[in-house]
Amino acid sequence: MDYSPSAKELSHFPFLKKAQDHIKRSFPPIDQLLKQEKGALLTDLAVRRINQALAAKKTIAAHFQHRDDDEIASYVLARIIVSCIQDKQLYDRLTRYEAERAYYFLNSETGSESEKGWNENAVLDDDQNSRIAQHIAAEFGIDLARDRMPLADYVEIVSVLHEDRFKLVNRRVSKGFVEIKKEELLELLRERIRVILRRDLPYHVPKSICEQLAPVAESIKKEYQEQMLRQFGAIEENAFPPCMQALIKALTAGTNLTHAGRFSLTSFVHTIGMDVPAIAQLFARSPDFDPEKTMYQVEHITGRGGSGTEYTAPACAAMRTTGLCVNRDQLCEHVNHPLSYYKVRKKDLAAGKGKKKEALKAPPT
Ligand code: SF4
Repeated sequence: MDYSPSAKELSHFPFLKKAQDHIKRSFPPIDQLLKQEKGALLTDLAVRRINQALAAKKTIAAHFQHRDDDEIASYVLARIIVSCIQDKQLYDRLTRYEAERAYYFLNSETGSESEKGWNENAVLDDDQNSRIAQHIAAEFGIDLARDRMPLADYVEIVSVLHEDRFKLVNRRVSKGFVEIKKEELLELLRERIRVILRRDLPYHVPKSICEQLAPVAESIKKEYQEQMLRQFGAIEENAFPPCMQALIKALTAGTNLTHAGRFSLTSFVHTIGMDVPAIAQLFARSPDFDPEKTMYQVEHITGRGGSGTEYTAPACAAMRTTGLCVNRDQLCEHVNHPLSYYKVRKKDLAAGKGKKKEALKAPPT
């Protein structure tokens, strides 16, 4: 039976097709909207949404202070803004945040003894799933009534989950299906939402709209970079993941790095706060160092060379594809990004759990 979610339900799950249809009727086209006072209010809400996605500690409130339509519009606008910024990590952070929000709302619909749920119209079935939960699951291709899932879907969904219970070796697989427990269904739905929302980014946003949003995009980029620097602190080569250590070793040994190798190393050290001259110095370890060529490449990758696009370091999956994931160690089993490896190892070193620290160069403040 086709379910018609209320505006309130749509505002809690703004990625639903019905939510998108709903706001198309409520707002003028985006280029016109951005010129209006309402556009400024929605942009402000969208920026708050992105900043929440970037914040180390997130606050998700089930009871909204804004109109349902504005909530939905801020979701769309946030995705448009990050599409203009063209940063893969921003896409990842925002989609993870939206999926986490959805998961929280699915679990707080009816509330608890101490806190009232946000959905006073929630009706639960025998499995304790509400109608909106079933509607979302159906749109995202998950059957909440079943205890198994196609293997290909399962593998894609759990690819970023590190808990042992999700590993395929700990699962019963039969005839192309993976068995799942009822209590895991909402978690898997959360991951499915993340995968699908990420797949749709970036949007193809007309240049004129990105130009209208440029000041906002700049402020987010700046905040994000500052947050990265705060997060990563002084650069420590000892904490580099094996893949990056191998690239530096190859550089020092005079081996010509492939384009993918140069790109991965440059974008990695740039993200953790190394400035352009310091990156060029790193490449100066190579015997065939060409200062001009190196500066050109480094500036291009770090977005200072006129393209305006900053590239982020590739994730482990991409590193494996280009053959750059080498010398994996135990920590590699628990991360899916070289930056996550660095963050964890650095914390371990600070806590005295690793080898003696060797500070390279503090990032510019
Ligand atoms: S698993 Fe990731 S962090 Fe570890 S070596 Fe491979 S690419 Fe680097």
